[in-house]
Amino acid sequence: MSPALSGPPVLATVELADEIRPRWWTAGPCRFPFPFPRLARGLTLPGEPLAWIDADAGPRPLITRASGRLHLAFDPAETFSHLTEERYTNVPAPVTSRLPFHYHRIPHALRLLLGRMTERWRSRKRTSPFPQWPIEPGWTILSGLLGPGTPGAPPVWPDGARVAFALCHDVDDAEGVRHIRTLRAIDEEHGFRACWYVVGRHYGHDEALYDSLLSSGHEIGLHDYNHDNRLASLPPREIRRRLEACRPLIERFRIAGFRSASLVRSGPMFDILPKHVRYDSTIPDTDSGAGGGVVAPFRHHGLVELPLTLPLDSTLILAGLSPREVLAIWRMKWEWLREVGGLAVLTAHPEPHFSANPKYLRVYAQFLSEVAESQGVWRATPRGIAEFWERSSAAPVSGRGTSA
Ligand SMILES: [Zn+2]
Repeated sequence: MSPALSGPPVLATVELADEIRPRWWTAGPCRFPFPFPRLARGLTLPGEPLAWIDADAGPRPLITRASGRLHLAFDPAETFSHLTEERYTNVPAPVTSRLPFHYHRIPHALRLLLGRMTERWRSRKRTSPFPQWPIEPGWTILSGLLGPGTPGAPPVWPDGARVAFALCHDVDDAEGVRHIRTLRAIDEEHGFRACWYVVGRHYGHDEALYDSLLSSGHEIGLHDYNHDNRLASLPPREIRRRLEACRPLIERFRIAGFRSASLVRSGPMFDILPKHVRYDSTIPDTDSGAGGGVVAPFRHHGLVELPLTLPLDSTLILAGLSPREVLAIWRMKWEWLREVGGLAVLTAHPEPHFSANPKYLRVYAQFLSEVAESQGVWRATPRGIAEFWERSSAAPVSGRGTSA
């Protein structure tokens, strides 16, 4: 990156010319945290403007076209990394990570109540218009414009599919292990195989059950060390120690993927993960008021990152949404992901205070039946998607000419 590009992040409004505005985006301008808008430093782009940025001193061209070539007032790689490293915000450590005891000692019903209170408090404190929820369009619009090879651009999925769908279950505690069979029956009834992210050292593992899942085509993943929400904030030495302690489980169940407890994340944690797994699925596109707004796999700290793109059942239930409302949000996001050709990652918890109860299981099963009936869907486990993306992203792509 040129030193001339350095500068503070600017949360800017981006207006798009009608010819480049996707037909699915009708909600006005995007608000987007651009890290280094060159035009703020007096750069002039040649040609006809296609998008304008309105940062601090009125609208100026952000993208122009001259002689069939795009000219950019930003560096796409720099902007992408700014978003996916979440440098535009501070993601606070959850309150549960600061308790003097493991928060799973609090009974489910009380945990749900406390979780709902915390969620209400957090959403009241949230003031940034980025990322929008449940659909953040910014990077999808830009990567679509910049074309193949842009980081975070949806790939061409196998078999001519227009969207990819992966199913996940975060097995947070021993009660979750007991309900694996309930969710598994629904998944298999609709022809799905899931990744079951199990916690390394927190409860007794039902090895026979995990073996049977593997032999039926499901996947076992690692869901943190003990789910105390502290892993990401520990010193690197301690993160290493905790992940080393999970090695026997990783090897026994051929684990390739990781998801952090409560999606708590940090640079040091991501730096250490590649020693143990091949992909991570911890960063949402927009849940919890953070994420990069990216709805396709991307490279992150040496791993394939599979963003969580359908709101988690836990997010929606903690926000107090009824089963009907949960279904409505999933349907809306699913339709949009199909439209843009993204990766749909659905996560349902097998604990009774989240999805493993009759009310929420009904809408979970209903949603799976609708996905199963949708045309042009590539269904795979997260591992299958990560492996496909690694292979396809290693192949050369021809992109549109740009200058940045
Ligand atoms: Zn969890």
